[in-house]
Amino acid sequence: MHPHLAEEIQVGAPLAHRMALAQPEFRALLDRALEGHEVSVDDGERCLHAEGGDLVALIATADAIRKRDVGDDVTYVVNRNLNFTNICFVGCRFCAFARQRWEADAFNQSIEAILAKVQQAVDLGATEICMQGGINPEMPAFTYRDILLAIKGAFPQIHMHAFSPMEIMYGSRRTDMSYRDYLQMLRDAGLGTIPGTAAEILDDEIREILSHKKVDVQTWIDIVTTAHDLGIRSTSTVMYGHLETARHVAAHIALIRTLQRQTGGFTEFVPLRFIHDNTELFRQGLVGEPPPKGIYDLRVYATSRLMLQGAIDNLQTSWVKINHELAQLSLEAGCNDFGGTLMEESISREAGANAGEYTPVDEIRALITARDRRPVERTTLYDKREAAHEDTAVDGHGLGGRSGRREVPARPDPYC
Ligand code: SF4
Repeated sequence: MHPHLAEEIQVGAPLAHRMALAQPEFRALLDRALEGHEVSVDDGERCLHAEGGDLVALIATADAIRKRDVGDDVTYVVNRNLNFTNICFVGCRFCAFARQRWEADAFNQSIEAILAKVQQAVDLGATEICMQGGINPEMPAFTYRDILLAIKGAFPQIHMHAFSPMEIMYGSRRTDMSYRDYLQMLRDAGLGTIPGTAAEILDDEIREILSHKKVDVQTWIDIVTTAHDLGIRSTSTVMYGHLETARHVAAHIALIRTLQRQTGGFTEFVPLRFIHDNTELFRQGLVGEPPPKGIYDLRVYATSRLMLQGAIDNLQTSWVKINHELAQLSLEAGCNDFGGTLMEESISREAGANAGEYTPVDEIRALITARDRRPVERTTLYDKREAAHEDTAVDGHGLGGRSGRREVPARPDPYC
């Protein structure tokens, strides 16, 4: 654990003590949040700048709201990321994953290779396949549907969490179908939920700089809300730590909250730190050195908990982006979900993240238990599967095929 950071935010000190450290005006903002009042964009922006005693009180408030709304359980899902191609023409400047088809490490996996990976994940106890890929211009029009049909034909029990709004947009254009018809076709082929990625920051001016070919804000909204209307739920995300201001982040969270009130379709919110190292944004000097991991990440998590209370209960930490220790500390700043085992997370690895690409179940459970919280396996839709883990032991025994670090062949993955 980050000892200095934990000390700085006074982890474990009583709520009243930590609240008393805030300046009066900021304390009033936090008190209103604790009473369940909506946190405005202005107040969210203020939270994202909190320092010193204000920061201590902000994090204590997020932790109290988390405890009140969802209790002490920390959930996780046993899943595998499966990125079937890294060939992509979109050219997002924050992406270190995409390749042109002539590059030596470009890949486009066959259905047989995909099925072998799913089998491997099923053997390790996975309940979910999280599948995204680059936007490959040479892909046959119905590829996404055909991958789903093949996987669900062989593994009907697996939940397919697949295809970002960017991929949905591209697939619907290639097939000349409306978003609704295209999504309906994918649902009928076995699509369970979609990742709420490709959101980055939902602000068209920022998006134009990040990636001018990427799905725009209104299209992202249209695709996600159409999916929700069809019963295809999604996650929601924000990517922070690049060109955006605190106001962009607060406005983004408020937009997600508004959409959730309309559809109820988001299962969770996942703040994702921008990993800069091998990206064009960084190489071209459009972003400088990122803020050190720690305070800013905790501010984003805590602010998300405050702003989304009453709308989205599940706030997921990202151990891939911020590392295991900080992810543990984020459990003190409003998070109640540890994400997935992933097994193949090369999107962040390509961009320079160093948390590894697979955290086995026993390690996730140990990380959670070390914070005096109860680890609970869940499904993609947040149904708890705890019968399999009644002993909550953290020594890696008694967890069947899900325990123990296993060798999983590393392959590059996308970051849409
Ligand atoms: S983020 Fe996705 S769409 Fe953008 S360049 Fe990377 S792989 Fe392509």
